[in-house]
Amino acid sequence: MRGLMMDRPLLIGPLLHYAAEYHGDTEIVTRTTEGPIHRYSYAEAERRARQLAKALKRLGVGFGDRVATLAWNTHRHFELYFGVSGIGAVCHTINPRLFADQLRYIVNHAEDKLLFLDLTFVPIAEKLAAQWPCVRHYVIMTDRAHMPETGLSGALCYEDLVAAETADLVWPEFDENTASSLCYTSGTTGNPKGALYTHRSTLLHSFAVCSANAVAISMRDSILPVVPMFHVNAWGIPYAAAMSGAKLVFPGPKLDGASLHELFTSEKVTLSLGVPTVWLGLLQHLEQTGKRLDGLQRVTVGGSAAPRAMIEAFEEKYGVQCIQGWGMTEMSPVGTLALLKAKHLLRSRDEQLAIKAGQGLALYGVDMKVIGADGTPQPRDGKASGELYVRGPWIIGAYYNDEPATQAAFDEAGWFRTGDVCSIDADGYMTIVDRSKDVIKSGGEWISSIDVENAAMGHPDIAEAAVIGLPHPKWDERPLLIVVPKPGRQPSKESILDFLGNKIAKWQLPDDIVFAPELPHGATGKVLKARLREQFKEYRLPTA
Ligand code: AMP
Repeated sequence: MRGLMMDRPLLIGPLLHYAAEYHGDTEIVTRTTEGPIHRYSYAEAERRARQLAKALKRLGVGFGDRVATLAWNTHRHFELYFGVSGIGAVCHTINPRLFADQLRYIVNHAEDKLLFLDLTFVPIAEKLAAQWPCVRHYVIMTDRAHMPETGLSGALCYEDLVAAETADLVWPEFDENTASSLCYTSGTTGNPKGALYTHRSTLLHSFAVCSANAVAISMRDSILPVVPMFHVNAWGIPYAAAMSGAKLVFPGPKLDGASLHELFTSEKVTLSLGVPTVWLGLLQHLEQTGKRLDGLQRVTVGGSAAPRAMIEAFEEKYGVQCIQGWGMTEMSPVGTLALLKAKHLLRSRDEQLAIKAGQGLALYGVDMKVIGADGTPQPRDGKASGELYVRGPWIIGAYYNDEPATQAAFDEAGWFRTGDVCSIDADGYMTIVDRSKDVIKSGGEWISSIDVENAAMGHPDIAEAAVIGLPHPKWDERPLLIVVPKPGRQPSKESILDFLGNKIAKWQLPDDIVFAPELPHGATGKVLKARLREQFKEYRLPTA
């Protein structure tokens, strides 16, 4: 028997309409690319998104067309999220930190018709425009006064486009499984692969992100997403904020500790989200200046493993709850969050921190299974590890227009292979051991590079650390630890090994340590292990 409830589509245009109707005077604040702070409300944002949608139509954008952005987190980018998807076109957010070759590939692969770009990225587009024959118009996201001299032929001005339209568009209704946005993953090998989200997947993901077992977003929050809107839709925060009527604070191009701290204070930010490197920058700034984080209630950290020392610093030194999340571009992105159950509140601080340093519990909607090297499902005992497979309504079912990548990414039952190695304990808490290609295979045992890095980053003189496996005649591979000391500090190898000796098993200790002024980071803030392996391929371990 079919139920008798209305079958109303979950759509992104009406989501912003809800925010305008019920949270119309809630603020959206931006540190603009031009410099000054811009301030308006959900009501104004929605009005302008409707004007923008009309401008898009006037420029020939139709249902299903791809409209690209090369932009920071700003109010204009927010308007594009809703204006583009709201008329059934696809908002393709491009990561400007990708290599030129990757940028050339993805614009052509997506066949972007229009490209909206911030002033910062005009030089990139000027260099590549000749190789992007599909792009009909470039729109520079600024006002008339700031329009640059540019070689981009017929470049349009964002503010002129919006101002030329009236706001009488009504968000159209269509199938909720219509494509809404597109984001390419920046794998270290092969071409980038496109995750094509739907209105439905985006809205379901938002409900999940807002829920109390996730990030618990409410209309009393003031949220600063440091995670870029060109990286998995800023983890879905623009949609989640609109859904709950939370204030949004967009940091624009300035993501250093001092600039973030200034906005945290002036805009009374309660929640902020970002990758570990961003938080390392902020914590260093606080340490150097003696500033506090008054008012900030929680930070979410994901994209790479959060070092335990970082979680401790936020919670113990600054009184800010630190929530680790795990996910992937292919998962919209949120899969798990490391929060404590009621029974954990009675446990020791040490046990609590151990839980928070793991990747946490799956959200309702995300199914997980762990498959061992022998192809069998692994028990949930917190020890057995294997590759993590997932499925769910906000996880991709195929890559966009990429049959070979799709073939490789799913098992026969349709589960998505994450490429992450993990274990799950009896309570369901998942711990990432490593990316499958980064795990160090030493004498038949696996050493988790994440465990060793995490331990090293607890050392008081170490800012950042990475571990790679190097060939070894007896053990196959052994770990090399690469360390970036904090400014003005010079830890010795012995002091680091002594420190690690108390935290990890003896056979997991690195065979050597090298010091470096910095580590190579990829387009989404992850340490580029492939680059390190290349850099150290001639390096001989003293034990080899
Ligand atoms: P991306 O698609 O760029 O968001 O990258 C997804 C990958 O980042 C995952 O498959 C993991 O390898 C890694 N990752 C994301 N969050 C975490 C986390 N909290 N801990 C460890 N690795 C993570």
